[in-house]
Amino acid sequence: MYELITKDGRAKRGRLTTVHGVIETPVFMNVGTVAAIKGAVSTVDLHEIGTQVELSNTYHLHVRTGDKLIKKLGGLHKFMNWDRPILTDSGGFQVFSLSSLRKIKEEGVTFRSHIDGRKIFMGPEESMQIQSNLGSTIAMAFDECPNSKASRDYVRPSVERTTRWLKRCKVEMDRLNSLPDTVNPHQMLFGINQGAIYDDIRIQHAQEIAEMDLDGYAVGGLAVGETAEEMYHVLDVTVPHLPENKPTYLMGVGTPANIIEGVYRGIDFFDCVYPSRNGRHGHVYTHHGKKNLFNAKYELDTRPIEEGCQCEACRNYSRAYVRHLLKAKEMLGMRLCVMHNLYFYNHMMEEIREAIEAHHYEEFRKQFLADLNTPDD
Ligand SMILES: [Zn+2]
Repeated sequence: MYELITKDGRAKRGRLTTVHGVIETPVFMNVGTVAAIKGAVSTVDLHEIGTQVELSNTYHLHVRTGDKLIKKLGGLHKFMNWDRPILTDSGGFQVFSLSSLRKIKEEGVTFRSHIDGRKIFMGPEESMQIQSNLGSTIAMAFDECPNSKASRDYVRPSVERTTRWLKRCKVEMDRLNSLPDTVNPHQMLFGINQGAIYDDIRIQHAQEIAEMDLDGYAVGGLAVGETAEEMYHVLDVTVPHLPENKPTYLMGVGTPANIIEGVYRGIDFFDCVYPSRNGRHGHVYTHHGKKNLFNAKYELDTRPIEEGCQCEACRNYSRAYVRHLLKAKEMLGMRLCVMHNLYFYNHMMEEIREAIEAHHYEEFRKQFLADLNTPDD
């Protein structure tokens, strides 16, 4: 159940109530691809850094360890000891980007696992079954994510098939949710808008899926090679055709600036590997841009990563120490940077929500973007 609390321009301040608790939006989902945040960050840590939603990956969990085993262990929530909402992606993106020798048919896709090369078939029904076994709070529809540079002649039939797949996803999810041994009988389904950078295809697709009364709507196929301006343009033309009284989700995006701009265009949900991936490489986010802690200028710097930050790393350790840990390849260095970055993202979303509630999002956005481009050391 989604409640639109208030709007400021197009920016939405919402609340999604789920069987695993309430999600205040706009929200950033913390990515734990294989049911773990890379960088040795535990679910206990996630509570500490203010994580509202964890995101896991259908394809990765299916090919390694296996969703059937996770179901036997009581589902993903019990397995990884996380009691708040989990969103699982459909596996579509990974099937199309990671696997080799894929063959697309109306029924679904045959591909080879990137782990052991075995042949796997996945279609809308299989994706829903895997996500049902995992028992996530929100399941994503199985779609094809065409390359943003793909031709119009390729994209149109692909999007039409994605719509047919979405209908099959909905039928299958309704069936799975009604079974007696389902891990989460209240699993929600988000549909995904595609259409590369073609306005008319994006709009028509958005209108078609908007009629299907889903629990939420994602904009997919962005942040895959197009420019930021092209991405913002797609949002400008597409989001107004998605239902306002349902959550919107911009998949796989992005930098702090991308998120500020996405919210400005009406997006509720975001996810991205940047904070964890960059953290593992000693790149840390601050309100004054990204810092590389390997830089020699931090050698004697006794300040925390960001002054005023309330994360575990900043409350307890200096830049000089974290830099030393990173240089010594100690796992703690990596972990502290990932914790700080996720805290920064989660906290940024809190600032965003407050700005929308106060109806000064426009000024907040300008100031936030200006600060990001003004290094403080
Ligand atoms: Zn911090």
